[in-house]
Amino acid sequence: MTEAKWAFEVPGKLEIPYRYFAGTFSSRWFRALRDEKKILGCRCPTCRKVFVPPRGNCERCLSKIEEWVELPGTGTVESFTVVRYAEPFQPHKPPLVLAAIKLDGADSSLIHLLGGVPPDQVQVGQRVKAVFAEERKGRITDISHFAPAAEAKKKAEYKKPVVQKTRAKPQAKVKGKVKKPAAKKPVKKTAAKKQAAQKKAVKKIVRKSKRSR
Ligand SMILES: [Zn+2]
Repeated sequence: MTEAKWAFEVPGKLEIPYRYFAGTFSSRWFRALRDEKKILGCRCPTCRKVFVPPRGNCERCLSKIEEWVELPGTGTVESFTVVRYAEPFQPHKPPLVLAAIKLDGADSSLIHLLGGVPPDQVQVGQRVKAVFAEERKGRITDISHFAPAAEAKKKAEYKKPVVQKTRAKPQAKVKGKVKKPAAKKPVKKTAAKKQAAQKKAVKKIVRKSKRSR
Protein backbone atom coordinates (compact mmCIF):
# COMPACT_ATOMS: atom_id res chain seq x y z
CA MET A 1 0.00 0.00 0.00
CA THR A 2 1.30 3.41 -0.86
CA GLU A 3 0.22 6.48 1.01
CA ALA A 4 -0.38 9.63 -0.95
CA LYS A 5 -1.12 13.00 0.55
CA TRP A 6 -4.89 12.78 0.28
CA ALA A 7 -5.76 9.16 -0.52
CA PHE A 8 -4.57 5.59 -0.35
CA GLU A 9 -3.68 3.66 -3.46
CA VAL A 10 -4.41 -0.02 -2.96
CA PRO A 11 -3.20 -2.56 -5.53
CA GLY A 12 -5.68 -5.31 -6.32
CA LYS A 13 -6.50 -8.12 -8.71
CA LEU A 14 -9.96 -8.99 -9.94
CA GLU A 15 -11.13 -11.94 -12.01
CA ILE A 16 -14.83 -12.70 -12.14
CA PRO A 17 -16.05 -15.67 -14.17
CA TYR A 18 -19.75 -15.28 -14.90
CA ARG A 19 -22.63 -16.62 -16.97
CA TYR A 20 -25.60 -14.73 -18.24
CA PHE A 21 -28.93 -15.83 -19.63
CA ALA A 22 -29.10 -14.83 -23.28
CA GLY A 23 -32.90 -15.03 -23.22
CA THR A 24 -35.19 -16.68 -25.74
CA PHE A 25 -34.83 -13.79 -28.21
CA SER A 26 -31.03 -13.48 -28.30
CA SER A 27 -30.60 -17.26 -28.13
CA ARG A 28 -31.95 -17.32 -31.69
CA TRP A 29 -28.92 -15.23 -32.68
CA PHE A 30 -26.46 -17.68 -31.14
CA ARG A 31 -28.25 -20.64 -32.77
CA ALA A 32 -27.86 -18.98 -36.18
CA LEU A 33 -24.13 -18.55 -35.57
CA ARG A 34 -23.68 -22.15 -34.44
CA ASP A 35 -25.99 -24.02 -36.81
CA GLU A 36 -26.18 -21.86 -39.92
CA LYS A 37 -22.97 -19.78 -39.85
CA LYS A 38 -25.17 -16.74 -40.23
CA ILE A 39 -25.06 -13.35 -38.56
CA LEU A 40 -28.55 -12.09 -37.92
CA GLY A 41 -29.62 -8.60 -37.11
CA CYS A 42 -32.85 -7.58 -35.44
CA ARG A 43 -34.95 -4.77 -36.84
CA CYS A 44 -36.97 -2.26 -34.88
CA PRO A 45 -40.59 -2.19 -36.13
CA THR A 46 -40.85 1.56 -35.50
CA CYS A 47 -37.58 3.25 -36.50
CA ARG A 48 -36.40 0.36 -38.73
CA LYS A 49 -32.88 0.39 -37.26
CA VAL A 50 -31.04 -2.94 -37.41
CA PHE A 51 -28.98 -3.99 -34.41
CA VAL A 52 -26.14 -6.48 -34.02
CA PRO A 53 -25.72 -8.01 -31.47
CA PRO A 54 -29.49 -8.28 -31.01
CA ARG A 55 -31.56 -6.65 -28.28
CA GLY A 56 -35.15 -7.22 -27.31
CA ASN A 57 -35.95 -3.53 -27.22
CA CYS A 58 -34.84 -0.71 -29.49
CA GLU A 59 -32.16 1.41 -27.84
CA ARG A 60 -33.45 4.47 -29.66
CA CYS A 61 -37.25 4.33 -29.45
CA LEU A 62 -37.66 1.50 -26.91
CA SER A 63 -40.03 -0.46 -29.16
CA LYS A 64 -40.18 -4.22 -28.68
CA ILE A 65 -38.16 -5.96 -31.39
CA GLU A 66 -39.20 -9.31 -32.84
CA GLU A 67 -38.07 -9.22 -36.47
CA TRP A 68 -34.87 -10.88 -37.67
CA VAL A 69 -32.91 -9.98 -40.80
CA GLU A 70 -30.06 -11.96 -42.30
CA LEU A 71 -26.87 -9.98 -42.83
CA PRO A 72 -24.23 -10.83 -45.42
CA GLY A 73 -21.40 -11.08 -42.88
CA THR A 74 -19.38 -8.31 -44.50
CA GLY A 75 -18.72 -4.93 -42.99
CA THR A 76 -16.41 -2.01 -42.44
CA VAL A 77 -13.89 -1.27 -39.71
CA GLU A 78 -15.17 1.79 -37.89
CA SER A 79 -12.41 1.94 -35.30
CA PHE A 80 -9.91 -0.43 -33.75
CA THR A 81 -7.30 -0.89 -31.07
CA VAL A 82 -4.21 -3.09 -30.88
CA VAL A 83 -3.93 -5.14 -27.68
CA ARG A 84 -0.28 -5.72 -26.89
CA TYR A 85 -0.48 -7.50 -23.54
CA ALA A 86 -1.59 -11.01 -22.61
CA GLU A 87 -4.71 -11.70 -20.55
CA PRO A 88 -6.06 -15.14 -19.64
CA PHE A 89 -9.46 -14.37 -21.18
CA GLN A 90 -8.09 -13.34 -24.56
CA PRO A 91 -8.47 -16.04 -27.21
CA HIS A 92 -5.12 -15.33 -28.89
CA LYS A 93 -1.64 -14.23 -27.99
CA PRO A 94 -0.88 -10.53 -28.41
CA PRO A 95 -0.64 -8.45 -30.44
CA LEU A 96 -4.27 -8.74 -31.44
CA VAL A 97 -6.60 -6.26 -33.04
CA LEU A 98 -10.04 -5.52 -31.60
CA ALA A 99 -12.27 -3.64 -33.99
CA ALA A 100 -15.69 -2.03 -34.01
CA ILE A 101 -17.19 -3.43 -37.20
CA LYS A 102 -20.24 -1.92 -38.84
CA LEU A 103 -21.83 -4.85 -40.61
CA ASP A 104 -23.49 -4.19 -43.95
CA GLY A 105 -27.19 -3.76 -43.34
CA ALA A 106 -26.76 -2.94 -39.64
CA ASP A 107 -27.01 0.37 -37.83
CA SER A 108 -24.87 -0.62 -34.87
CA SER A 109 -21.31 -1.91 -34.52
CA LEU A 110 -20.07 -5.31 -33.43
CA ILE A 111 -16.83 -5.54 -31.46
CA HIS A 112 -14.73 -8.47 -32.60
CA LEU A 113 -11.25 -9.67 -33.43
CA LEU A 114 -9.61 -8.73 -36.67
CA GLY A 115 -7.26 -11.30 -38.15
CA GLY A 116 -5.30 -11.99 -41.29
CA VAL A 117 -3.76 -8.53 -41.34
CA PRO A 118 -0.74 -7.14 -39.46
CA PRO A 119 -1.81 -4.65 -36.78
CA ASP A 120 0.12 -1.82 -38.46
CA GLN A 121 -1.81 -2.37 -41.68
CA VAL A 122 -5.31 -2.20 -40.23
CA GLN A 123 -7.21 0.80 -41.48
CA VAL A 124 -10.42 2.53 -40.54
CA GLY A 125 -12.75 2.04 -43.49
CA GLN A 126 -11.23 -1.34 -44.32
CA ARG A 127 -13.68 -3.91 -45.71
CA VAL A 128 -13.87 -7.13 -43.72
CA LYS A 129 -15.84 -10.37 -43.66
CA ALA A 130 -16.69 -12.83 -40.92
CA VAL A 131 -14.67 -16.03 -40.66
CA PHE A 132 -16.52 -18.76 -38.75
CA ALA A 133 -14.88 -21.22 -36.39
CA GLU A 134 -14.75 -24.86 -37.43
CA GLU A 135 -16.17 -25.94 -34.09
CA ARG A 136 -19.08 -23.79 -32.98
CA LYS A 137 -20.73 -23.79 -29.58
CA GLY A 138 -23.33 -21.03 -29.75
CA ARG A 139 -21.00 -18.29 -28.55
CA ILE A 140 -19.65 -15.05 -29.95
CA THR A 141 -16.39 -16.91 -30.66
CA ASP A 142 -18.31 -18.98 -33.23
CA ILE A 143 -17.20 -16.08 -35.37
CA SER A 144 -13.48 -16.84 -35.20
CA HIS A 145 -12.56 -13.36 -36.39
CA PHE A 146 -13.10 -10.86 -39.18
CA ALA A 147 -10.63 -10.88 -42.06
CA PRO A 148 -9.91 -8.33 -44.81
CA ALA A 149 -12.32 -8.72 -47.68
CA ALA A 150 -10.90 -7.15 -50.80
CA GLU A 151 -13.73 -8.59 -52.82
CA ALA A 152 -16.39 -6.94 -50.67
CA LYS A 153 -17.29 -3.87 -52.68
CA LYS A 154 -16.83 -0.54 -51.07
CA LYS A 155 -19.98 1.34 -50.24
CA ALA A 156 -20.54 4.66 -51.96
CA GLU A 157 -20.56 6.57 -48.70
CA TYR A 158 -17.19 5.29 -47.56
CA LYS A 159 -14.73 7.99 -46.80
CA LYS A 160 -11.10 7.62 -47.68
CA PRO A 161 -9.55 5.15 -45.21
CA VAL A 162 -7.45 6.80 -42.57
CA VAL A 163 -4.26 5.05 -41.56
CA GLN A 164 -3.81 4.97 -37.82
CA LYS A 165 -0.15 6.00 -38.07
CA THR A 166 -1.02 9.33 -39.60
CA ARG A 167 -3.88 10.05 -37.25
CA ALA A 168 -1.82 12.17 -34.91
CA LYS A 169 -0.54 14.44 -37.71
CA PRO A 170 -3.75 16.27 -38.65
CA GLN A 171 -4.34 16.93 -34.98
CA ALA A 172 -0.90 18.44 -34.65
CA LYS A 173 -1.58 20.65 -37.70
CA VAL A 174 -4.84 21.84 -36.26
CA LYS A 175 -3.12 22.61 -33.03
CA GLY A 176 -0.49 24.62 -34.90
CA LYS A 177 -3.09 26.59 -36.83
CA VAL A 178 -5.30 27.42 -33.95
CA LYS A 179 -3.34 29.92 -31.98
CA LYS A 180 -4.42 30.59 -28.51
CA PRO A 181 -5.33 34.22 -28.04
CA ALA A 182 -2.61 35.97 -26.14
CA ALA A 183 -3.61 36.45 -22.56
CA LYS A 184 -4.49 40.04 -21.87
CA LYS A 185 -2.29 41.65 -19.35
CA PRO A 186 -4.24 42.97 -16.42
CA VAL A 187 -4.41 46.73 -16.67
CA LYS A 188 -3.03 48.30 -13.55
CA LYS A 189 -4.55 51.60 -12.71
CA THR A 190 -1.94 53.90 -11.45
CA ALA A 191 -2.78 56.43 -8.79
CA ALA A 192 -2.45 59.27 -11.36
CA LYS A 193 -4.92 57.57 -13.75
CA LYS A 194 -7.37 56.98 -10.92
CA GLN A 195 -7.20 60.65 -10.00
CA ALA A 196 -7.75 61.72 -13.63
CA ALA A 197 -10.78 59.43 -13.88
CA GLN A 198 -12.19 60.84 -10.67
CA LYS A 199 -11.72 64.42 -11.96
CA LYS A 200 -13.55 63.56 -15.22
CA ALA A 201 -16.44 62.08 -13.27
CA VAL A 202 -16.68 65.17 -11.09
CA LYS A 203 -16.62 67.48 -14.20
CA LYS A 204 -19.50 65.48 -15.74
CA ILE A 205 -21.58 65.87 -12.58
CA VAL A 206 -20.85 69.61 -12.50
CA ARG A 207 -21.85 70.00 -16.19
CA LYS A 208 -25.09 68.11 -15.61
CA SER A 209 -25.96 70.15 -12.56
CA LYS A 210 -25.27 73.41 -14.52
CA ARG A 211 -27.59 72.27 -17.34
CA SER A 212 -30.37 71.43 -14.93
CA ARG A 213 -30.24 74.87 -13.36
ZN1 LIG B 1 -36.63 1.91 -32.79
